[in-house]
Amino acid sequence: MKIKELIRPHLVDIKPYSSARDEYTGKEGIFLDANENPFGSATREAFNRYPDPLQKKLKEKIAALKKISASKIFLGNGSDEPIDLLIRAFCEPATDNVIITPPTYGMYEVSAEINNIGLKKVPLTEDFQLKTGDIKKNIDKNTKIIFLCSPNNPTANSLNAADVEHILETFAGIVVIDEAYIDFSEQPGFAEKLDWFENLVILQTFSKAWGMAALRLGMAFANEDIIHYLNKIKPPYNISGATQKLALEALENVAWKDARVNEIKSLRNELTGDINKLRRVEKVFPSDANFILVKMKDAKAVFDRLIDEKIIVRNRSNVILCEGCLRITIGTKDENNALLKALQNIDK
Ligand SMILES: *Cc1c(COP(=O)(O)O)cnc(C)c1O
Repeated sequence: MKIKELIRPHLVDIKPYSSARDEYTGKEGIFLDANENPFGSATREAFNRYPDPLQKKLKEKIAALKKISASKIFLGNGSDEPIDLLIRAFCEPATDNVIITPPTYGMYEVSAEINNIGLKKVPLTEDFQLKTGDIKKNIDKNTKIIFLCSPNNPTANSLNAADVEHILETFAGIVVIDEAYIDFSEQPGFAEKLDWFENLVILQTFSKAWGMAALRLGMAFANEDIIHYLNKIKPPYNISGATQKLALEALENVAWKDARVNEIKSLRNELTGDINKLRRVEKVFPSDANFILVKMKDAKAVFDRLIDEKIIVRNRSNVILCEGCLRITIGTKDENNALLKALQNIDK
C-alpha cells in the first residue's frame, strides 16, 4: 500500500502556505518579517511572536515519553482537528465514504457530514465489539477510512485487539484508532505497533488524563508519509504559543498525570460498586475509561431529576445499543458522593 495512492490526487503536489518563520529559521536577529508587534503583548506574558508551526520542541518531548519518533507525530487543535484533516486528506467529497461503528464518538460523523463524505454505519455487537465480517462487507472501492475508538466512547470498553488487527491487515485504506482514554485502560493500545501497519493512525489527547481540555491539544501518531500530508494541509499555526508552552510544562509533570489517573481508576471502581447496588440499576458496564455507562429503569427521568439537583450526566438512552443508559464521568470523591446520594433519593 502506498499512502501517495490513497491521498486525494490534487493534494499530492499542493504547495502549503509558507510562513515567515519557515523561510528564516534562525533564532537570533531583528525580526521584521512577520508583522508582529515589537513591543510585546497586551497580556502580562509576551505572546507577540508567532509560534513554531511544527512544534518541534513539544514533539521531541512527546516522542521521548511515548517512545515514538518525532517524525511520526502530528499535533492538532484537539483531536478533533486531525479527525477533520484526515477526512480532508483522504476523502473526495460526494464520492468517498468512511465507516464508523456506532455507538461511538460523534465527531467522526459530524466531520464526514461537514465534508460531504459518505458514512457507513456498522453497529457494534451487543457486547460492544466489532462485527469484523460486516465491516469487511461494507468496504467498497470508495471507502477510505475506518474509524475505531478504543476504549470506546460511550460504551467505555476496549475493542478486542485481535479484531482491530484483523481490520488493519485486511483493509487497504486508513484505519484510525481513537485512543482518547488509553491512559485509563488496562490494554496497551496500538502505539507500540505503529511500525507494523502503514495504514494505522492513532489519536490521543491532552484533554482527558492530562486535564488540559481547555487548551485543545490532540496527537496523531502515524508513518511519516501520512504525517507529511497532514502537515501540508493544516492551518500554519494550529497550536498556539500558550498551548505549546503549557504542554511543555505538563510534560515535566508526568507524575501528576499518573497519580490522577490512578485516583480516577480507583474512584471509578468504588462508584461502580455503589451504583450497582441501586434498585433501578440493571447494569454498570465494565469501564476501561474515566466514565461509566449505566443501564437503568427510566433513564431519562433519572437524568431530569439529577438536573434538578444540578448534577449533569450524559443521557445516552436514545443512542443505538445504549437504550436506557446514562454516561457518567468519574468526578472527585465529593462529587461522586453527591451523585450517589441523589441517585439513592431517586431510587426510594
Ligand atoms: C474526548 C474525546 C476526544 C478528545 O477530543 P479533543 O478534541 O482532543 O478534546 C477524542 N475522541 C474521543 C472518543 C473522545 O471521547
